Amino acid sequence: MSSPSPTTDHGAQPAVVVDDVTKNYGSRRAVDGVSLDIRRGEFFGLLGPNGAGKSTLVEIMEGLRRADSGSVTVFGESTWPRNTGLLPRMGVQTQSSAFFVRQTVHEHLRTVAALFGTDRAAVDRTLEAVGLDDKHDVRVDDLSGGQRQRLAIASALVHGPELIFLDEPTAALDTEGRRDLWEVLRGLKAAGRTIVYTTHHLDEAEALCDRVGILVDGRLVVTDEPQSLIGNSGATSRLLVPLGRIDEEQAAGLPGVEGVAVQGGHLVLQTRATGRVLAALDPLTGLDGVQTRTPSLEDVYLELTARPQSPLVSNNQEQS
Ligand code: ADP
Repeated sequence: MSSPSPTTDHGAQPAVVVDDVTKNYGSRRAVDGVSLDIRRGEFFGLLGPNGAGKSTLVEIMEGLRRADSGSVTVFGESTWPRNTGLLPRMGVQTQSSAFFVRQTVHEHLRTVAALFGTDRAAVDRTLEAVGLDDKHDVRVDDLSGGQRQRLAIASALVHGPELIFLDEPTAALDTEGRRDLWEVLRGLKAAGRTIVYTTHHLDEAEALCDRVGILVDGRLVVTDEPQSLIGNSGATSRLLVPLGRIDEEQAAGLPGVEGVAVQGGHLVLQTRATGRVLAALDPLTGLDGVQTRTPSLEDVYLELTARPQSPLVSNNQEQS
C-alpha cells in the first residue's frame, strides 16, 4: 500500500524479513502472525500501546527471543538459533542496557568498542555524535537518566553497525535532548544505516520515519509512510474560530462542516473540506484569528488503537 521512499535501496535484499511470526507467553498471545519487510536504508518506526508486543517482536528480530512459529531473517540470515555472525552488523539499544557503572563514560565505551575490535577514534566520534563529548571522565553511575540513555545509544552505535535497533531512545530525554538525538538519527540514516525503532512520540515518528508499523494486541494493523497513513485515514482537519464570531448552530450548517465543539476560547469545526469551510466562513466572520489544524499521525494512531481486541490462545506454552 505504501509507495517507495526515494532514500531506500530497493534493488537489494531487505535488511529484515519477518514472516508470519507468532509468540505466546502462556495463554497470552504477544505477537500474532506478523509479517514485515524492512528495506535497507529505511528508518522504520514500530508503534503501539503498552503491551502491544513491540518489545517482543523487536527482540525476536534481534535474535534475542525465539518465535513460536514463523521466521526472521536479517541480511538474508536466520536470527535463530542465535546467530553470532550477525552481531557486528547489528546495534542493539534496549531500555535496560547494561553499563559498566564504575567506569567513566570513555572507559565504558572503549570496553564496548573493544568487544567488537573497534578503534579508539570511533569511541570519540560516537561520544561526540550523541552529545557526551564533555562527559568523557564522568563515572557512568554519576550520569543523569538522559545521559545514560545517550550512552546506551552510543554503545549500540560504536562498532558502526548497518542495522540499528533502538527501543524508545528518546524516552528519558528533554525536548532539547530529543531534538539533538533526532539529528544523530537523521545522520545515521543519511549514512545509509537501517534503523528500526520503537517510540511513544508520534510527532517524532512522523518527523523521522520513512514508514511506521502500528501494532495492536500483537497484530500489525497497518504499515505505511506517515503521510500516506494520514492522507488515507479520512481524519478530519479542525478549524479554530475565536468564540463570539459565529454561533454553534450557524457553524454546524456551513457546507463541509462535520462537527462543532467549544474548546477553550474557540469554536472547533471539524471538516474534510478545509477550503470550502474557509470560503464559507470568510464573508461571515473574516478569517482573522482563524487557525487550521491538519490531522497528524497521532490522530490516525489514536483512531487505529482505539479498538482493542484480546486474542487469547488456549494452549499453555513455556515462556522464553
Ligand atoms: P510492548 O513492548 O508493546 O509494551 P511487550 O512485547 O513487552 O509489549 O508485551 C506484549 C505482551 O506480552 C504483554 O501482554 C506483556 O505483558 C506480555 N509479556 C511480555 N514479556 C513477557 C514475559 N517474559 N512473560 C510473560 N508475558 C510477557
